[in-house]
Amino acid sequence: METLSVKPMKISQTYALINAKCPKCRRGDMFANSTYSLSSQKMNETCPHCGFKFEIEPGYFYVAMFVSYAFNVAQMVTLAVGLYILTGSKNPWLYVGVLLGSAVVLSPFNFRYSRVVLMYWLTPGVHYDPDRSRDDYKRIGS
Ligand SMILES: [Zn+2]
Repeated sequence: METLSVKPMKISQTYALINAKCPKCRRGDMFANSTYSLSSQKMNETCPHCGFKFEIEPGYFYVAMFVSYAFNVAQMVTLAVGLYILTGSKNPWLYVGVLLGSAVVLSPFNFRYSRVVLMYWLTPGVHYDPDRSRDDYKRIGS
């Protein structure tokens, strides 16, 4: 149980990751809207809480394409195998339809979590700093 204390609050990585929070402070949102909002996906340039600049260097998020690709392959293989086990169908159009449909439906999820995974697990030097999650943390950028 968390109790009130003078220590900076500790926010779990799982919570921060699922909610796409800033990797540094785990409080500010990385994205300006929700995963399945009707407007287009928009990422905040800096963390609204601690001011951390999300695009660490120019082109940083191109790497997220590879993560997104891995997500897609994993999802499609899982779906195709699952579909075969459930239906036993050999009709290719069933697979094409379901896999293309799932690619469209899952694309906002993949866009978001490929960037989250890139920031949390694949970028050396980006670590949680409990000090930055304090209410009185000054936004100084970077
Ligand atoms: Zn932050």
